[in-house]
Amino acid sequence: MTLPNRGPAPLSVASSGDLPATADVVVIGGGIIGVATALDLARAGHGTCLLEKGIIAGEQSSRNWGWVRQAGRDLRELPLSSLARRRWQTLSDRIGPDLGYVECGIAYVARSSEQAARHQAWVTEAAGHGITARILDPESLMAIAPGLARTGLSALYLPGDGRAEPQSAAPLLAREAVREGASIHQNCAALEIETDHAGICGVRTERGQIATRSVVVAGGIWSAPLLRRLGVELPQLKVLSSALRTGPLTEAQSSAFIPCLSLGGIALRHRADGGVTMASSATAVAEIVPDSFRHMQAFLPGLRSMLPGLKLRLGAATLREAGWLLSGSALERSLTRHRIMDPTPDRRALQQVKRRLAESFPALADLEEVQRWGGLIDVTPDVIPVISTAAGVPGLVVGTGFSGHGFGIGPGAGRVLAELATDQRPSVDLREFRLDRFGKGGRVEIQSWL
Ligand SMILES: Cc1cc2nc3c(=O)[nH]c(=O)nc-3n(C[C@H](O)[C@H](O)[C@H](O)COP(=O)(O)OP(=O)(O)OC[C@H]3O[C@@H](n4cnc5c(N)ncnc54)[C@H](O)[C@@H]3O)c2cc1C
Repeated sequence: MTLPNRGPAPLSVASSGDLPATADVVVIGGGIIGVATALDLARAGHGTCLLEKGIIAGEQSSRNWGWVRQAGRDLRELPLSSLARRRWQTLSDRIGPDLGYVECGIAYVARSSEQAARHQAWVTEAAGHGITARILDPESLMAIAPGLARTGLSALYLPGDGRAEPQSAAPLLAREAVREGASIHQNCAALEIETDHAGICGVRTERGQIATRSVVVAGGIWSAPLLRRLGVELPQLKVLSSALRTGPLTEAQSSAFIPCLSLGGIALRHRADGGVTMASSATAVAEIVPDSFRHMQAFLPGLRSMLPGLKLRLGAATLREAGWLLSGSALERSLTRHRIMDPTPDRRALQQVKRRLAESFPALADLEEVQRWGGLIDVTPDVIPVISTAAGVPGLVVGTGFSGHGFGIGPGAGRVLAELATDQRPSVDLREFRLDRFGKGGRVEIQSWL
C-alpha cells in the first residue's frame, strides 16, 4: 500500500476580501502564534491584518503531536506556559469541544536512574513556580499505563497538562479572530517589511502594500530570512521531525496507556478521532544550509541535548537558502512557491517508533497506520523562543523560534505579543526571550530536564 506522504489537513478558514490599505498591526504568519496574536489584538479593538503565504496552520501548527504541556519545560518558560494554560481554558469555554482541549495529564517515563533524577529535580524546581507535578512510582505508573511490558519504571507526571487537536486549534482561533474584526489573507506572502526614518512603515505583499507602524513576525521557519532583509539577525535552524497516525484503537488498546505519554524516544497521543498520533522524540534531521555554518557553534550544545539522535545532511534547502543570501528576489520566489512546507518524513525514525512501541506495549503492535508526515521545527540555540521587540527597528515585534514546543504555549505567546505590539506592559516578564540574548557577550543557557 502507498501511504500518503502529506501533512494532515487543517480545518479550512475563509479568507477576508481585499487587502486593507492600512492596519494598526500586521501579523505575518498564520500558525498558532500568529492567529493567537491576531485574536487578542482584534479583541482589544486594534485594526488587525494577518498574512499567511499558504493556509492557516499549514506548517508546524497542524503537524505537531498536540501536547499542551508544562512538564519538563525550561523553567524560564513556566510563567508563560501558566498563562497559556489559563488561555486554553478560556478559549475552550468560548469555542467549545472542537478545540479538543482536555487536561488529561502527561507522563514522561524514565528509562534510567539519571533520567529519573532529572525528573525529580524538575518537580522540585517547578514547585517553586507554583506547579504541582509528581513522580509516579512503578505501581502508580502501571495504574495509568497498564499495557506497559516493562515494570519497575517511574514517571514524571503532571495531571494539569493535556492536549488539543492541532488540525482544528489554530483554524478555530483564526475564525474567532475574524469574528472579532481581524482580516485574514491566505495565499498572500509578506515579501518585505518596509521602514522609514520613524521605523516600520509598511509591508509589501504579493498582492500590494499595507501601511502600518506595527508588525509582528510569527513566520515559524521563515522568520529569520525575512528579518535578515531588515538587518535583524536571528539564529534559527530547521529540524525535521516525523510523525504518523493510526486508525481508531479498540477499547482494550485505548486503555493500555493514558492519552499523552512519552517513553524511550517515542511520544503518543490519543486523538479525538479515536486513533493515536505517534512520533519519535529522540531523532531528527537537519539539512545543512548556509546558516548551519554561521550558527552551528552556537547550536550544537542545544541540539544535542534536545535531540541526541540528530542527523545532518545535504538537501534541497541547501541550494535554495544559498540563493537567499545572493538576492532578495530568491527568497520572495521561495515564499510564493513553497506555500506549505511538506517535508518527506524520516522513514527510519518512524520504523524505529513502531518497533519500540511494539516492544513497550505489546497490545499496540498491530495498529493500522493511516498517514505519516514530516514537519520542520524552528529551533534557537537555547531551545526557547524569541518574544521580543528589536533594537533599532521601532514597531517590529518578533515571536518565533518555539523550538518544538510552541503549540502548547501558543495562546500565552499570542497574548504577550499582542501586548508588545501595542506598547502595553506584557502580562509576564519577557526578559529571557529577548532577541539580543544571542548578540555579542550574550549568555545562552540550555536546560535539559527530560
Ligand atoms: C512533528 C512536530 C511535533 C510537535 N509537537 C509539539 C507538541 O506536542 N506540543 C507543542 O507545544 N509543540 C509541538 N511542536 C512545535 C509546534 O508545532 C510549533 O512550535 C508551533 O506550531 C509554532 O507555531 P508558529 O505559529 O510559530 O509556526 P508555524 O505553525 O510554522 O506557522 C508559521 C506560518 O507562517 C507562515 N509564513 C512564514 N513566512 C511568511 C511570510 N513571509 N508571509 C506570510 N506567511 C508566512 C507559514 O506559511 C506558516 O504557516 C511540534 C512540531 C512538530 C513539527
